[in-house]
Amino acid sequence: ITTPAADRLTFSRTDAPSPRSDAERAEILADPGFGKHFTDHMVAIDWTIDGGWHDARVQPYGPLLLDPAASVLHYAQEIFEGLKAYRHADGSIWTFRPEKNAERLQRSARRLALPELPTPVFLDSIREIIAADGAWVPSGEDQSLYLRPFMIANESFLGVRAAQRVGYYVIASPAGAYFTGGVKPVSIWLSTEFSRAGKGGTGAAKTGGNYAASLLPQNEAAANGCAQVLFLDAATGTRVDELGGMNVFLVYRDGRVVTPELSGTILEGVTRESVIQLVRDRGLEVEEREVFIDEWREGVASGEISEVFACGTAAVITPIGELKGAGFSVGDPGAPAGELTMSIRGELTDIQYGRVADRHGWLTRL
Ligand code: PMP
Repeated sequence: ITTPAADRLTFSRTDAPSPRSDAERAEILADPGFGKHFTDHMVAIDWTIDGGWHDARVQPYGPLLLDPAASVLHYAQEIFEGLKAYRHADGSIWTFRPEKNAERLQRSARRLALPELPTPVFLDSIREIIAADGAWVPSGEDQSLYLRPFMIANESFLGVRAAQRVGYYVIASPAGAYFTGGVKPVSIWLSTEFSRAGKGGTGAAKTGGNYAASLLPQNEAAANGCAQVLFLDAATGTRVDELGGMNVFLVYRDGRVVTPELSGTILEGVTRESVIQLVRDRGLEVEEREVFIDEWREGVASGEISEVFACGTAAVITPIGELKGAGFSVGDPGAPAGELTMSIRGELTDIQYGRVADRHGWLTRL
């Protein structure tokens, strides 16, 4: 889809803001949880096939008016992103590699036949929500403001084709520490009955349908006492793809670190790419390649694999203590988190919260 080039848009700001009181906000920020509370404002930008991107604005947070025939409701033409704003000790607000999210949103848009939002407009949309709602960026340890940009097809018609009217929005939600009371290893469930993505499908796109398809296996994981579900490749059921919402890494006792390659069926995580860089910075070898589930099971059982972890924006890095599936389990859910896992987690969060030098230039001030 080509659109009239608009690399910058001017955002109008609501002249009827309705912020909650300082006291109300402080009460929410004291214990924000995750994804439960939303800030006072949102960003909205419209797109039409004739007019391109237009009407960029900051408006009070509130319901969208959608025609019941809006195509997103029927054909799921939708994509989204997730990134965080961090408050540093001096009060300044920063975000982490936002251009990576802008580029991934563009790749998702191409796959879902949605219009691409230019990177400068994406970055401005993030700046605008922070300009309006910066007071909602918490300052407690491991807290942040989670930003959720998303794009939906909102043309009203029934018939399967790419919509000619689209909306892009950014909402924001204060997020508490993912792990209260310290980082704890989780158990994960190996799904063998269900797949997440196949060759040529939408696995590499951040689109709602992928997550809808993961809910039933996720319920199965929960019923088996597991925090997340692990998916294998759909074609052979032998290779590790990723978790429902995180990428995975195996750490060998000899120092090698292994993660599934970008095959087109997994999401290209910003955290994944950053972890690979930080591990390589330490002189350790990272192999991006096919990872077989048998390698994982046998390696953990023999002790050759000493740590397994998952990574993503929401929980940063989560140690995996145990892998369970129909009739088997490997690992120890009670074992302490791995040394490299915790050390990389510490280094990454130190960069994000400005506690150490940003040597890769990953931070953008908002
Ligand atoms: N895989 C999936 C399926 C995800 O939803 C996410 C979260 N966006 C990730 C991996 C991790 O990506 P990121 O590090 O960019 O958050």
